[in-house]
Amino acid sequence: MSRSAHPAGPRYADVLPEGHYVAPPTDLNALDPQVWSRTVDRGDDGAVRVGGIDVRRLAEEIGTPAYVLDEEDFRARCRAWREAFGSEADVFYAGKAFLSRAVVRWLREEGLNLDVCSEGELTTALAAGMPPERIALHGNNKSAAEIERAIEAGVGRIVLDSFQEIVRVAHTAERLGKRQRVLVRVTVGVEAHTHEFIATAHEDQKFGIGLAGGQAAEAVRRVLRLEGLELVGIHSHIGSQIFDTSGFEVAAHRVVGLLKEIRDEHGVELPEIDLGGGLGIAYVSEDDPREPREIAVALREIVSRECERAGLAVPRISVEPGRAIAGPTTFTLYEVGTVKELAGLRTYVSVDGGMSDNIRTALYDADYSVALVSRASTAEPMLVRVVGKHCESGDIVVRDAFLPADLGPGDLIAVPATGAYCRSMASNYNHALRPPVVAVKDGVARTIVRRETEDDLLRLDVG
Ligand SMILES: *Cc1c(COP(=O)(O)O)cnc(C)c1O
Repeated sequence: MSRSAHPAGPRYADVLPEGHYVAPPTDLNALDPQVWSRTVDRGDDGAVRVGGIDVRRLAEEIGTPAYVLDEEDFRARCRAWREAFGSEADVFYAGKAFLSRAVVRWLREEGLNLDVCSEGELTTALAAGMPPERIALHGNNKSAAEIERAIEAGVGRIVLDSFQEIVRVAHTAERLGKRQRVLVRVTVGVEAHTHEFIATAHEDQKFGIGLAGGQAAEAVRRVLRLEGLELVGIHSHIGSQIFDTSGFEVAAHRVVGLLKEIRDEHGVELPEIDLGGGLGIAYVSEDDPREPREIAVALREIVSRECERAGLAVPRISVEPGRAIAGPTTFTLYEVGTVKELAGLRTYVSVDGGMSDNIRTALYDADYSVALVSRASTAEPMLVRVVGKHCESGDIVVRDAFLPADLGPGDLIAVPATGAYCRSMASNYNHALRPPVVAVKDGVARTIVRRETEDDLLRLDVG
């Protein structure tokens, strides 16, 4: 079962709501603003528009499948995070959600910083002119080349993930005659996802250094002894698609506990804590995400309270939203190829993409919504499964959803909230050509990542 592939691990599969039953919507033509980006609406003729552009025109000009990104929505989300956290905090966009040079430019202009976790992401960030001091390097197995490249470039912080890496980064910095600002990533024994969090989770994961058994304290001891490193804070990331702040509460409590230990042992108060990302978005109408402002207020309150108790000055807070910025900005536009009704079972709607452009349904059992966008319809709702064109029965895009019963070949349908972890996890399975990302704004559509071509495929295949 794909449930066993849940990001929080198979142990927690049974705390998740089963199945996710969806009731037929009252209006199949409605576009829930929680799920769709802000400039999406349905025109008088029934077709959907985004950024002032009709989806039928987009399909004609750029083809399908395509990721359609609402630039105004992306920028507005950046600003909402920036403003909610204000000048006493830093917002690092998690580039792994979706990264391109245009995105880096938007982040730069909107005052956000950027998390990268590979040399490829670092290259993209630098190529698009992100000031290196606003870049943080993550990863549980950064290569020597990545470390050297990052230090040479002058990245603002490297998040240390293991004892071996502490030495590696320190030596590289010393060799380059630099002192690198670093955070130590700790695992606080909290795993959060969807509506649940588990505060006593085993620290059985590849990331970070455990607080338990004094491991993290020992890491700090070693970092403080090394010339090449300047320890600025502690980092914790507890999970993904989180809808409330109770997991962060426990994490902050434990991180501040470590700050206090460090103060007591070494006489230093570290100036920063990074509470990671993972804030949830609405994939379906039933999801109820928190606004950045609510999150900011809650995190500040939690950290202030914990620090007051510990007798510490309140450190600067960082957060690292990825999905919460990129996710809702984009929908994937598909053309319906076949509609297959299996009597007494279900109806399969096949589209011209699939698990190669959205692996999340197969990988995480993720929920998505879908709507007919090339026209409105007054037909009855029909319960469908939207599937791709790949040679695999697990190639599901939307497990259960309602579409109008008059749906047929040639109709355009769109799956919203695909801006995070879809293009960035896209593959060439079955030699599919990865779809383009098209940014729309004020009536203009601009391709920011072009569609792959057969030449791209053959270029790598050296024969
Ligand atoms: C993945 C990740 C994030 C972003 O997670 P989202 O769920 O996209 O917000 C932030 N920080 C770290 C360290 C991560 O690994």
